Amino acid sequence: MNHTEWEFETLAVRAGHVRTNEGEHSEAIFPTSSFVFSSAAQAAARFGGTEPGNIYARFTNPTVRYFQERLAALEGGESCVATASGMSAILAVMLGLLKVGDHVVCSRAVFGTTTLLLQNIIGKFGVAFSFVELTDMAAWEEALQPNTRLLFVETPANPLTEIVDIRELADLAHRHGSLLVVDNCFCTPALQRPLDLGADIVVHSATKYLDGQGRALGGAVVGDKERVGKDVYGVLRNGGMTMSPFNAWIFLKGLETLSLRMKAHCENALQLAQWLEAHPAIERVHYPGLASHPQHALAQQQQSGFGGIVSFIVKGGQAAAWQVVDATQMLSITANLGDAKTTITHPATTTHGRLTPEQKAQAGIAAGLLRVSVGLESVRDIQRDLARGLDAL
Ligand SMILES: *Cc1c(COP(=O)(O)O)cnc(C)c1O
Repeated sequence: MNHTEWEFETLAVRAGHVRTNEGEHSEAIFPTSSFVFSSAAQAAARFGGTEPGNIYARFTNPTVRYFQERLAALEGGESCVATASGMSAILAVMLGLLKVGDHVVCSRAVFGTTTLLLQNIIGKFGVAFSFVELTDMAAWEEALQPNTRLLFVETPANPLTEIVDIRELADLAHRHGSLLVVDNCFCTPALQRPLDLGADIVVHSATKYLDGQGRALGGAVVGDKERVGKDVYGVLRNGGMTMSPFNAWIFLKGLETLSLRMKAHCENALQLAQWLEAHPAIERVHYPGLASHPQHALAQQQQSGFGGIVSFIVKGGQAAAWQVVDATQMLSITANLGDAKTTITHPATTTHGRLTPEQKAQAGIAAGLLRVSVGLESVRDIQRDLARGLDAL
């Protein structure tokens, strides 16, 4: 990217777009599987890598490239590769950077499918995994082995919004010759830029806030030219879990409003969290913007906003939590997050339902815990919808 003078909001609207000769204002979608060459010699040069340009949509597609360049600019990375989903972004990182005999240390508080992907699938290919408490720096240090290649975190983590000091963890990784990978799904680059804090690679589920309207599945990996531009890209080019140009277009439109949306999500979430904290039916609220959050100071330093995810424990366990969920009329009862529409989830019986009671206790997944992804509706309507169940308890 050479728009180095542009501010974040401008990059989000304009970075990466190259107009065709048609003069289109909005980015063009290129629904083509392959590209033609002007001559046999050009075809050979493209395949031989001596001339840059499109060959086949599994390798490159202009609409996808616009998205990749825009997100790279927003995260402050040299390279970005777009993937078919958030999970395929994580898969591509693992396949691109690991080999037999390597070891990975992963936060225990990561997206459930990430744990399954690492343990059950990547684990079959001779890579070992250790899982540690996100916020326990001594545990990270203790888990490192001579063959530890990657450290993997989500921060803030789902659903309790715990936060790790990215700079401290990146320093630890680098002292041991390892790399830090951050899943930046909850904050997006609008609120947190892990690469600036020393992380080596950022992964995204574009399905969440980057789209912001629950329309499409996608993901991305951002980092340096060597590891992301070559190693991870190689997995995509040969493995084929590339982003469709239609989805790339949706995410381009999503990015245009990212800054505004994240501000509004943060404002609504803070108001909701403060209101919940004062409600007599509630035992505890988890939100990085509250002074009661254990890493509130770190969140203020590391993030430019506290995010849109609020979780809280209602008094009375699962029955009370379900009563609150079932009393809602507007909120969407779904496990999705990062949407304009507010969503509500009961983690203990859905996203974390597979955990044993001991694992739930260890992970802080109380029976009365509810997670709300605070949307863009009026916060007063969101409160009214939750109050119906909470006031009845
Ligand atoms: C949803 C999610 C993923 C997986 O993304 P998909 O697009 O559903 O494949 C990964 N990490 C986090 C934090 C998520 O919320």
